[in-house]
Amino acid sequence: MFPQEIIRRKRDGIRLSDDELRFFAHGIADESISEGQIAAFAMAVFFQGMTTAEATALTLAMRDTGDVLRWDNENLPGPIIDKHSTGGVGDGVSLILGPLIAACGGYVPMISGRGLGHTGGTLDKLDAIPGYDSTPDTARFRKTVRECGIAIIGQTGKLAPADQRFYATRDVTATVESIPLITASILSKKLAAGLDCLVMDVKTGSGAFMPTHDASRDLAVSITEVANQAGVKTSALVTDMNQCLGFNAGNSLEVREAIEFLTGNRQGKRIKEVTFALCAELLTLANLADDKLTAETMLDDALDSGRAAEAFGKMVYHLGGPADMLEHYDAHLSHAPVARPIFSHSEGYVTSINTRMLGLSVAQLGGGRTRSEDSIDPSVGLENVISLGSTSDQALAVIHAQCDDDWKKAADTIKAAVHFGPSPISPPPVVYEAIHPKLR
Ligand code: URA
Repeated sequence: MFPQEIIRRKRDGIRLSDDELRFFAHGIADESISEGQIAAFAMAVFFQGMTTAEATALTLAMRDTGDVLRWDNENLPGPIIDKHSTGGVGDGVSLILGPLIAACGGYVPMISGRGLGHTGGTLDKLDAIPGYDSTPDTARFRKTVRECGIAIIGQTGKLAPADQRFYATRDVTATVESIPLITASILSKKLAAGLDCLVMDVKTGSGAFMPTHDASRDLAVSITEVANQAGVKTSALVTDMNQCLGFNAGNSLEVREAIEFLTGNRQGKRIKEVTFALCAELLTLANLADDKLTAETMLDDALDSGRAAEAFGKMVYHLGGPADMLEHYDAHLSHAPVARPIFSHSEGYVTSINTRMLGLSVAQLGGGRTRSEDSIDPSVGLENVISLGSTSDQALAVIHAQCDDDWKKAADTIKAAVHFGPSPISPPPVVYEAIHPKLR
């Protein structure tokens, strides 16, 4: 087979065979296919699209360029479950959802990414915990999943390596925004974790990765169709990202919020609604609950009994973090030297928020990165971020910064991001829709 022939066929709108897609994915991974050929292929797919069968074949081929975890030899007494989000601002859902699912009988080998641009990354949040090893060896990872029901770790070069090279080329050739390529990129990594069930949280709104609600829905449909074709029971929710999801945005601040949520000290309404909806999808997909109502009762019990918090604390300890993280998180998490609220000079009610700019203000403070090799400061970020419909007498946020100068720059960005109007608005729904393709 010749890469240029495969590119030509896709360019001309011809459906590619499983063998051709496998050949191309392996050629990306073993570098027998050049960067120019990857770029041309990506552009051909961008314009011609792919059928669900092609996207599924590409996903499986990319998954199979690296290790694929298997859990059957562990004899775990519950299903292997995970969630993936397209990313947002103040989106600490994984830190809460994983322990909740573990406390309800699921096993969650969550392989997460780092933040880039305006969105936060689960791994960066966990790296805010002193001693936490987010890149353990496979034996430690498996032991943590077995004994705690959950382990959240980072992507290794051994999982779907074709994606790393493919994505790097797409990133610099304006071909990221292709639904079949995004689907194959996300799912090749997720499927390599050996899952039984997956729920996808596809964000829509001013802080979302997808530009419109329709595009978010198309991605949700594509991911659910391909994942189910590939044998993983999957559903998706399209959820709102027109404002910061939790109270806080920033790494230490989001870990603090997750612990306060799990221990019942303080639970944000929106983050709870999204987390419970995603958990209910998973518990029903995995047959751990018969219906949504039963799932919600199980989730309440997992929180109220302290079992979910305990699963989080155990995971942190097993992966090298402090044994008393739940009790003394304040002492373990870092604090920025400057922490002051910022108020707006406008009057009225918050009518819209440029959530992307809020996320960028965290990156501007040093809490996010613009290039993948940048290091980040876990202590900085935004606390108690204002929500849609709030009045102008409330602070826009408490900004945690390393110095007054950084505080001031972030304050200017936040003031420009939050818009006021004379009348109250009804905030958008938190969950817009659920996508449930026919399960085989
Ligand atoms: N996230 C991914 O992992 N891959 C994409 O292509 C886009 C977002």
